[in-house]
Amino acid sequence: MEELARIVGSAHVEPGVVIGDIAVAGVPATLVRPADAREVAAIVAWCYAHDVAIVPVGGRSGLAGGATVLDPGAVAVSLERLTAIRSFTPELWRMEAEAGVSTATIARRARENGLCFPPDPGAPEQSQLGGTIATNAGGPHAFKYGVTGDWVTGIEAVLAPGELVRVGGPLRKDVAGYDLRALLTGSEGTLGIVTAAWLRLTPAPEAQLTVAAVYPDAAAGCAAILRVLASGVVPAALEFFDEGAVRAAGTTFPHGALDGFLVVAEADGAAAEAARVRDELLEALTPAAAALYAPEATARTVWRWRDGVSLAVTAARGAKLSEDIAVPVERLEEAIAQTVAIGARHALQACSWGHAGDGNVHASFLLDPGDAAQRERADRAAQELFDLALRLGGTVTGEHGIGVLKRGQLTRQWAPAAVAAQRAIKHALDPKGLLNPGKKLP
Ligand SMILES: Cc1cc2nc3c(=O)[nH]c(=O)nc-3n(C[C@H](O)[C@H](O)[C@H](O)COP(=O)(O)OP(=O)(O)OC[C@H]3O[C@@H](n4cnc5c(N)ncnc54)[C@H](O)[C@@H]3O)c2cc1C
Repeated sequence: MEELARIVGSAHVEPGVVIGDIAVAGVPATLVRPADAREVAAIVAWCYAHDVAIVPVGGRSGLAGGATVLDPGAVAVSLERLTAIRSFTPELWRMEAEAGVSTATIARRARENGLCFPPDPGAPEQSQLGGTIATNAGGPHAFKYGVTGDWVTGIEAVLAPGELVRVGGPLRKDVAGYDLRALLTGSEGTLGIVTAAWLRLTPAPEAQLTVAAVYPDAAAGCAAILRVLASGVVPAALEFFDEGAVRAAGTTFPHGALDGFLVVAEADGAAAEAARVRDELLEALTPAAAALYAPEATARTVWRWRDGVSLAVTAARGAKLSEDIAVPVERLEEAIAQTVAIGARHALQACSWGHAGDGNVHASFLLDPGDAAQRERADRAAQELFDLALRLGGTVTGEHGIGVLKRGQLTRQWAPAAVAAQRAIKHALDPKGLLNPGKKLP
C-alpha cells in the first residue's frame, strides 16, 4: 500500500472499497487513482513484480461484471483522473482523448464542432472512453456507423509487465504488424490498460428524422425489418421492442400509449437526403403496420423514451436478468419468440428489445427482487438463451461482453482450437494472468 501511495500519492490510494459495476457487486479491495499514463505503467509494474491482480475500472456502467473486483487482494485501477482531451483537430475530424473522459464529453465536444462520434452505448455520462473501448460498445447507431472499435485509429495502453505502448495513432490506415489496436478493443481489461485513444470523427448529419411503426405481433414487425433491409435504404438505427417491452414502457411513448410490437428507425444525412430516407423507410414499414409515426422535424423524444425502456422493464416487477445475445437478422423473429417461450418454461415473464438491424436482442427475464428461487430459474433460463443464440448461428453477447457473468460461454460458442488461440493471446500479453483474472476467458 505504501509503495502504491509513493506512485500516486496517498490521497489516491483507498483500501477496502467495494468495486462493482451495474451487473455484479464486488468485494472490498484497494482502489488506486493514477493521474496519468506513466503512473498507470508504474502501478502495473508494481503489481506484476508482486503477483497482484489488476482490475481496470472505468465508469462501472458495464453490464457483465467486467470491472467488478472478485479478489480482495487485487488492485483496482480507476482511470477517472485521466480526463484530458490531448488534442482535437475538428478540420481533420480527429481527437486524442484520455481513457477517463466520459463518452458523453467526447460526443458533446464533437457535436459543438459540427462533428459526430457515432458510438452511443446507453450510459454516456457514466461510461468512459477506456471502458467503452475495452467493451467495444455498440448502441443503436452501430447499425449504420459500426461499433466503438470502428472509430478508434490508435490506442495508448499499458501492457504487462508495465510498459507504456502506442499502437496506431492519428492515421486512418495502418496494416503494419498484427492488429494490436483491434485486440485491445473489446479485451475487457484482460490484455492491458487503455490510457488514451485516437478517435476518428465524422461530420455530423444535418438532419435526423425518426420513424416509428407498430405491428400486431413480432412476425409482422420482423417481416417489416427484413423489408427495410431488402429495400436497400440505410437507416442510421433500426430498433425493435416486443409486445412485453411495449407493455412495460409503452404508456410513456411520446406519441401516445402503445400496444403491440414496435419498430423505430432513424433517417439521417443532409436535410433532403434524410427526408428521402425517411420516405423510403415509411414505404417499407407501412404494410401490416397498425400505426405509424413520422414527425417532420428532427426530434429526440422517441430516443429519450428508448433510453428509459430498460428501466421501465426493470420496474415492471422490481428486477430483471438481461442478456444481449445477437443472431443473424433473419433469425430475429425466432429469437424474440423463443425468449418468451424460454421464460414460460421457467415460469418467468420475459420480453426483449434491441438493435434489430444488428440482430442484437436484449432478452430479459422479469424478477421479484429477493426471490431466490426465481433468480435460480432465471439463471437456468439464461443458459437456454445462450444455447438458443448458438443454435441460431449467433453469439452469447453482441455488445456487453463476457465479463464474469458469461464466463465459460466461449467454450460453447467456439471450437477448442479457437479458444486455445484466445488463451495463447492472453498468455503472450499477460503471462502471469494478472490482468483482470476470471474475466472473459473460460
Ligand atoms: C443504461 C445502460 C445502457 C447501455 N447500453 C449499451 C448499448 O446500447 N450498447 C453497448 O454496447 N453497451 C451498453 N451498455 C454497457 C456498456 O458496456 C457500458 O455502458 C460502457 O460502454 C462501458 O464503459 P465503462 O467506462 O462504464 O466501463 P466499466 O463498466 O468500468 O468497465 C467495462 C470493462 O472494461 C474494462 N475497462 C474499463 N476501463 C478500462 C481501461 N481504461 N482499459 C482497459 N480496460 C478497461 C473493465 O475492466 C471491464 O472489463 C449500457 C449500460 C447501461 C448502464
